[in-house]
Amino acid sequence: MGEGIPSRGARAVVTGAGSGIGRAFALELAARGGRVVCADLDLSAAESTVAAIRRGGYGEGHAVRCDVSSLGEVEALASTSRAYFGEVPTLLVNNAGIGVGGQNLEDISMEDWRFIVGVNLFGVIHGCRTFVPLFREARRGAVINVASAASFGSAPQMGAYNVTKAGVVSLSETLHAELAGTGVRVAVLCPTFVKTNILRNARLPGAHEARAQQLMDRQGTPPDVLVRGALDGLDRGEIHLLPQLDARISWWAKRFSPGTFTRGMGWVGKMLPRAPRTANREGA
Ligand code: NAD
Repeated sequence: MGEGIPSRGARAVVTGAGSGIGRAFALELAARGGRVVCADLDLSAAESTVAAIRRGGYGEGHAVRCDVSSLGEVEALASTSRAYFGEVPTLLVNNAGIGVGGQNLEDISMEDWRFIVGVNLFGVIHGCRTFVPLFREARRGAVINVASAASFGSAPQMGAYNVTKAGVVSLSETLHAELAGTGVRVAVLCPTFVKTNILRNARLPGAHEARAQQLMDRQGTPPDVLVRGALDGLDRGEIHLLPQLDARISWWAKRFSPGTFTRGMGWVGKMLPRAPRTANREGA
């Protein structure tokens, strides 16, 4: 890792590296001279990212299958990464995540709650719990946790997703405080729409998926642009990474007038189609 420049020459571990934002992190970190362990639930997707790193002719990659919702698998990822690098990694990107939406809070099934909390929140908890002690001992290293503008946006019918992402922001801020003066950096990325495969893999009713896909196609930032902004923010020592203008505007609007902001989101929500109350309550 370059002195004070964590994104340069990193020995990085990226979760969810087989697609979208994770894949863009892996490629950009390799382009900045890094070696990257590309971890994903889908091994062949992780391998395709490693193949893209090789085709790019810069950096180096190694594919690993890992389900971040399992603490044991994340611990195994840390051991594999250490063996691959021959030393402790310098950067962890806790990126793997999934979407659940389309229902009011009281209608979300317990199965959907457990699924999304398991990946989006416990995935990040497992990553921090496993890698931070290694960084702390080495007195260097950096963590980027991928949250979302949903963490503060309070979008209706996205409750479970919003809760997991707010948890990731809180976890990151707490870690940032706990690691002050240790030489270990922590940052949390809060994107709005980014053009990825997230909707294809999400648990969303059809009408919502179509609406969200439209917004993503129209307004989505290309993942490589987002990731370059995020890594530059990490290098500058920022804690909240908000590379997109609409994310920064919403962030400040929420802080300036939280009540008006949330009421406004409520009116937007009234325009959305609503999935039937009974459609997804099995296991509730
Ligand atoms: P994506 O679906 O394109 O990529 C997610 C990757 O994570 C996939 O390769 C998938 O196989 C992997 N994955 C899923 N569950 C996993 C698990 N349990 N363990 C390991 N890997 C797993 O989605 P993306 O948009 O690139 O999402 C990446 C992160 O960005 C997520 O945390 C998401 O919540 C966040 N995010 C995305 C957007 C957006 O608009 N795309 C906006 C804000 C935040």
